Amino acid sequence: MDIKKWGVLVRECSYIPDNLKFCSSDEICVDEIGDGNLNVVLRVYTKDGRSVIVKHSLPYIKCLGEGYPLGVARIDAEYKALVKFHQLAPGCVPQPYFFNKQHNAVYLEDLEGYNILQQNLISGQFDQKIAENLGQSLATVHSKTHIGKIGEDAINELFLHLDNSTMVGLTAEYVFTKPFNKPDDTNKCSPEVSERLNLLYEDENVLSAAKALCKIFTEKKECLIHGDLHAGSIMVKGTDTRMFDLEFCTVGPAGYDLGVVLANFIFTYHRHISTEEDNDTHRVFAYKMVDACKAFVNIYLENMSESTGNRDEYVSKLLSETAGFTACEIIRRLIGAAHYPYLDGMPLAEQDCLDTGTTLLNAYHRIHDIDKFLIIAFKLV
Ligand code: ADP
Ligand code: MG
Repeated sequence: MDIKKWGVLVRECSYIPDNLKFCSSDEICVDEIGDGNLNVVLRVYTKDGRSVIVKHSLPYIKCLGEGYPLGVARIDAEYKALVKFHQLAPGCVPQPYFFNKQHNAVYLEDLEGYNILQQNLISGQFDQKIAENLGQSLATVHSKTHIGKIGEDAINELFLHLDNSTMVGLTAEYVFTKPFNKPDDTNKCSPEVSERLNLLYEDENVLSAAKALCKIFTEKKECLIHGDLHAGSIMVKGTDTRMFDLEFCTVGPAGYDLGVVLANFIFTYHRHISTEEDNDTHRVFAYKMVDACKAFVNIYLENMSESTGNRDEYVSKLLSETAGFTACEIIRRLIGAAHYPYLDGMPLAEQDCLDTGTTLLNAYHRIHDIDKFLIIAFKLV
């Protein structure tokens, strides 16, 4: 692909804020910065520091090649979701500037100088305020688009407006279905996790819980959700916290976003608790993840102003679904196609995570508050 063409396209774009506009005399540089599997992400910039990010979708899965088609409607949905997130909770995502339909590209704010949260979690940098900010902005977006606030007609309209069924179908398959089907040949895991798979495949309760959660994920139209809020979809600078990569967005259950965040804190806990070198420092950082789970959920609930029916019953069901989604996310990233790579070479930690995932899945319908969640997820007895 000729990435230089993006310099020309961005120069001609009138929707970019004036302070970032490129004029005809500017020398424009274009670098490919994306490390993702699906899309092309470019930084288009001038030497004096004006820059714009262009995210461009290809009609196939970039890392697999043209033989693996994937609809480009996902970039349209991502732009629509970015606009909503930005309107409802300004500063919670990079500001979207413009959607170029002809070229399947979104132009958006350059978060240069931000770090991907995943990298910070590995290196042991984390301020609890990040968990709180995340809880707060997610609660704002969920509340303002909640079925309890906008009603059933508007929620169905929002679902159709996003029109992201291909990506939602991928989540249903790759998170909730394939990992729980033993012979599926897209599944992969380490030999040590493989030794423990009977825990999962021979437990009818676990398998039927995954089915029940898949049904909730595909059928419950509760609010606008990010749809894939892992630590690689969050950027931070100090405590400024931004969500990005919204291409799995949909109208779905609020607990799905909460569960994916919590699964990532749990993975991070296991990575640090299992690091032998300088174990005291890592242990302290691991326990920060327990606090992060608690702060994230508590701030979310404090700011989540909408619900359906009786508030206590709503929260108790939300926490139960959250626990179930946390479990599915942990399990699918250990044994499914989208492997969690940050526990590679730590087989005991991977086994502990599988154990946590299956225990949570077995117990999710009995988990109704964050304290019980933490006790079961981190074996705090
Ligand atoms: P994909 O969907 O292909 O994974 P992402 O949206 O995750 O694409 O972006 C891939 C990478 O590009 C990110 O991990 C990040 O390094 C960089 N990136 C994406 N958006 C921005 C942005 N607004 N500002 C700075 N860097 C970004
Ligand atoms: Mg990505």
